[in-house]
Amino acid sequence: MTECGMGVILRRRFEITGIVQGVGFRPFIYNLAREYALTGAVWNHTSGVTIEAEGETEALNHFAQAVMERLPPLALIDGIISVEIAPTGDTSFIILASESAAFESTPVSPDMATCDDCLRELNNPADRRYGYPFINCTNCGPRFTIIRNLPYDRPATTMAAFPMCLACEAEYHDPSNRRFHAQPNACPVCGPNVALEDLTGTAAIKRTRALLAQGAIVAVKGIGGFHLACDATNNAAVHLLRERKNRFEQPFAVMTRDLAAVRRIAEVDDEESHLLLSRQRPIVLLRKLSESPLAEFVAPGNGYVGVMLPYSPLHHLLVGENPLVMTSANPSGQPIVRENAEACQRLSHLADAFLTHNRDIEVVCDDSVVRTFEGREMPLRRSRGYAPMPVRLPPESPSILAVGAELKSTFCIAKGHFAYLSQHIGDMGTLETQRAFERALDHMLRLFRVEPVRVVCDLHPGYHSAHWAAEYAQRKGLELQAVQHHHAHVASLIAESALPLETPIIGIAFDGTGYGTDGAIWGGEVLIVRGNTFERFAHLGYVPMAGGDASVRTPARTALSYLRAAGIPWDTDLPCVAAFTPSDLKLLERQLERNLNCLETSSMGRLFDAVSALIGVRQRVSYEGQAAIELESLCEGRRAHPYSAATLDPAPLLQAVIEDLRAGMPREQIAAAFHETIAQWIVNISRQARENTGLNRVGLTGGVFQNLTLLRRAVELLRTQAFEVLTHRIVPANDGGLALGQAALAILAHGRDTL
Ligand code: ZN
Ligand code: ZN
Ligand code: FE
Repeated sequence: MTECGMGVILRRRFEITGIVQGVGFRPFIYNLAREYALTGAVWNHTSGVTIEAEGETEALNHFAQAVMERLPPLALIDGIISVEIAPTGDTSFIILASESAAFESTPVSPDMATCDDCLRELNNPADRRYGYPFINCTNCGPRFTIIRNLPYDRPATTMAAFPMCLACEAEYHDPSNRRFHAQPNACPVCGPNVALEDLTGTAAIKRTRALLAQGAIVAVKGIGGFHLACDATNNAAVHLLRERKNRFEQPFAVMTRDLAAVRRIAEVDDEESHLLLSRQRPIVLLRKLSESPLAEFVAPGNGYVGVMLPYSPLHHLLVGENPLVMTSANPSGQPIVRENAEACQRLSHLADAFLTHNRDIEVVCDDSVVRTFEGREMPLRRSRGYAPMPVRLPPESPSILAVGAELKSTFCIAKGHFAYLSQHIGDMGTLETQRAFERALDHMLRLFRVEPVRVVCDLHPGYHSAHWAAEYAQRKGLELQAVQHHHAHVASLIAESALPLETPIIGIAFDGTGYGTDGAIWGGEVLIVRGNTFERFAHLGYVPMAGGDASVRTPARTALSYLRAAGIPWDTDLPCVAAFTPSDLKLLERQLERNLNCLETSSMGRLFDAVSALIGVRQRVSYEGQAAIELESLCEGRRAHPYSAATLDPAPLLQAVIEDLRAGMPREQIAAAFHETIAQWIVNISRQARENTGLNRVGLTGGVFQNLTLLRRAVELLRTQAFEVLTHRIVPANDGGLALGQAALAILAHGRDTL
């Protein structure tokens, strides 16, 4: 302790962990220290940031409080430890250089939307960055998609190619400037530029706007990849895009200029507008207005439309009065396009023009998709703006790699107290996607300095991810663990809920497909999960399904399989029967009779498909979940009595549906009664499980629970029976969240194996 002037001088060391790199944390500390007249230093190290601050007791206390309260918007503090040390008599506060070799696994910030300060400059004709499409600062701009390696310094990003001009350099080194140590700092003099054919800068953007206004389709390079853009109010343009993409029904996302423009096309409540304006800027699923300027082909047959607001300066400059369709630029089944040369090649048949830029995208990152449930965010696709934000794990985890599932694939890396779920990778069935998977994995292992000691995959012998994992584990001499699909779904829910991973739970896992321990296709599962073990308490009755994939694409086939299993004749008054020619019916019948290429299935997703086809809503689908989505759209806001809900047996349910159909009941009403029945099933089976096990906690997981009508009603009914209900808030209920659950199960297994 030193006497100095009026007060007692102390020196305190703060060890801070969390997202404190690349988010303006050190300049923030520097400025705060000056504000409280403290001396000392701040520096990065292996697992975070260390501050040593020296000054009067009261100033130190205020400083410590301000660190927590005034945190830069992108920073996330995970822990602070402070200790008193001997004062050194420092006379100033300084930022020490990074010790590059020392860096380990400091979380990296996701890409963040342009901040208000930067927007003001973007729109100010007197500013030197007026109209500059790469404006950013320590509070905004690209991060995850431009970082090649750690430490997060400019040479380790794709900005390495752009040496700063004197003006930018001065900002970068001025601790009082909001671009102090902003690694992507740039201006029109020194930074990246946009180009369209032989035009650059503002001229290129102007030309793009003119092309879009004329109905052209333009490939636009953004933050995490290319989009295909067209005027969303122009039916001919949207239809042309559908023809070229060969994608006729799956909804397109749109981008509007501002919130007022969103309100012209969709209903927006407070939470939804909050999400639209958040720094993550996800696509938010909103209820379409019946009267709107939106072209009919944007989201045909769908009550919802996915809307996002501009998140890069380029988007702000591009979107005018009319909303734009902004759909990921990828030939079907392939990952989003990342490189300029690749774009010109792979998108040549899709786009009329290319608005590119010369800042490289290190890894692709698709837009995220969310909706709200009970006034809170519910993710459907967790990607740009979220990845690689970690999920906090209760136990300390060894280094684990979980490779996810097959469709909507993501992977997860766990280490220490964090699980990093990757960006959306896509459907692992194509070589291009598998390459994108490897690139993204390589990137994250490098950023987080992880050497996995254990690999975990799905039990499904046909998943490409499982094959990849087996090969990887063998090559690296690692332990490989295969976990059951629905077990992993339930575990992902427990992991994101921050409960101890061993927490026992009644897990309701309803989805399209998952490989069961008996070799059948599961998906209507009630599991009693106790950490690493589970008991299959109940499941939807098995039905032999003809030709796995063909059934998934053709709900009418699924319906016929169900009817046959229930002993219901294929009468031609039923829409799903009428969808086939007599000879096709005969073929199908023979296939089912001889059990050729048939798989026992307990999938809830398939039951939704079957009912959708049975009542004439959808016989064939062009995207995953379409039949169920359209079935749900029908019962919007409708109340109905359930059909018999005594057991999880589809036969009496289908019988009742057919009786109503033949009695002329509107299909809206049948759809509502069907949803009500499934909700009642969930409650009845949960009560039985509670009686058997004494457990009172129910988790709802799996892709079927993206259905809000079902989710809302099931949660409501469970609560009236005094159940504690868990639903997804951080990772998707669909297979996009599965890798987190796999990682959780691997942590549990690793703990057991190493005891
Ligand atoms: Zn900014
Ligand atoms: Zn510059
Ligand atoms: Fe699943």
